[in-house]
Amino acid sequence: MSPQAELLLMHGLQQALEDQKLRMVYQPKVSLRDGSLTQVEALVRWSDPELGAVNPAEFVPLAEEHGLIDELTLWGLRTILRQWLDWRDEGLDTCIAFNISALSLQHLDFPDHVERMCRGLDVPTDRLVLELTESATQPLVKLMDALTRFRIKGIGLAIDDFGTGYSSLMQLRQLPFTEVKIDQAFVADVPRSRDSRLIIQAVTELAHGLGLTATAEGIETIDQLRAVRELGCDFGQGYLMSAPIEPTALKPWVQKFRRAWPAMIAEEKLALWGDVEADPLGEWQI
Ligand code: C2E
Ligand code: MG
Ligand code: MG
Repeated sequence: MSPQAELLLMHGLQQALEDQKLRMVYQPKVSLRDGSLTQVEALVRWSDPELGAVNPAEFVPLAEEHGLIDELTLWGLRTILRQWLDWRDEGLDTCIAFNISALSLQHLDFPDHVERMCRGLDVPTDRLVLELTESATQPLVKLMDALTRFRIKGIGLAIDDFGTGYSSLMQLRQLPFTEVKIDQAFVADVPRSRDSRLIIQAVTELAHGLGLTATAEGIETIDQLRAVRELGCDFGQGYLMSAPIEPTALKPWVQKFRRAWPAMIAEEKLALWGDVEADPLGEWQI
């Protein structure tokens, strides 16, 4: 992207933040033991009248580069904490996972600030999980201090996209993570690739040995779901179960999914949720 196009995009993002034009959608993460909802992952959405829908994988790194990431992070935190309250009022008490840039963790007072935000709104800190991805420029080991502070406050920590890029097994031992999210590249391959199966199994066993949970990301087919269950993963997330959805769609999804789960893990392939497999974006896609 040209420097001019980047600046235009960042100007648009700044405007969207000011005009409250960003929104969050939420993707359920389910227990692979019984199909119950364990967490939802908040994912930001930005739809610009001129640029159309802009992908977070595109604008989040630019926001990091152009000094907008803290504003985006604070907007996101405020939004998800308020959303938690709305769901609690509806009788849904779940945990919210929030993707956070390692850059935001460089502010020494950030963990205290997050705790104050939770306290201010009366959201228990153990309902919040921060998801972090390692990158070449932001090694997670440098954030040991901030990560430890979050853990002391009861906030969960997930290492995202594990197994690709820069993440290493060593970090699972050194850093106070509570959850490892196995990258969707391994999950995509799992029905045909022995290597992917071995990696998922090894990461899951190591995670369990160190007291962490293992989540399989990007589950799109029944075969992938069954494979990651058999390999011992605790939680699963992906289009098969649900794409990211609007907050109001969560409660109906919980009811619908409860009925669909037994067929998903049954020996024979039943067609109950099958249309979702054929059309992964299904009726729930936003
Ligand atoms: P991520 O945290 O690893 O999120 C998973 C991405 O995979 C999401 O893309 C999600 O929509 C997509 N996904 C979920 N299930 C499936 C599936 O079954 N198959 C496939 N192919 N994809 C699936 P999305 O929403 O475009 O987000 C991309 C990345 O942008 C996220 O990766 C995360 O790193 C970042 N991101 C999203 N929202 C935020 C945010 O609020 N703050 C920050 N700092 N980063 C965010
Ligand atoms: Mg994530
Ligand atoms: Mg991920």
